[in-house]
Amino acid sequence: MNIEEMAEEFLICPKCHNNLIYKIFKEKEMLICKTCRIYYPVEDEIPMLLIDDAVNIDDLD
Ligand SMILES: [Zn+2]
Repeated sequence: MNIEEMAEEFLICPKCHNNLIYKIFKEKEMLICKTCRIYYPVEDEIPMLLIDDAVNIDDLD
């Protein structure tokens, strides 16, 4: 099972508990919560699912 399948099956946003979407943007892996409009970074295949690590999607350039 790859991280994308794992994310979509098991990982939920710690804030709103909705499913996350795995995406690679500018070679950076991230898990996006469309409800909260934030993303959680993935570092060395480990999702950083902490509210403190969340970054606003609108900050993506
Ligand atoms: Zn959320």
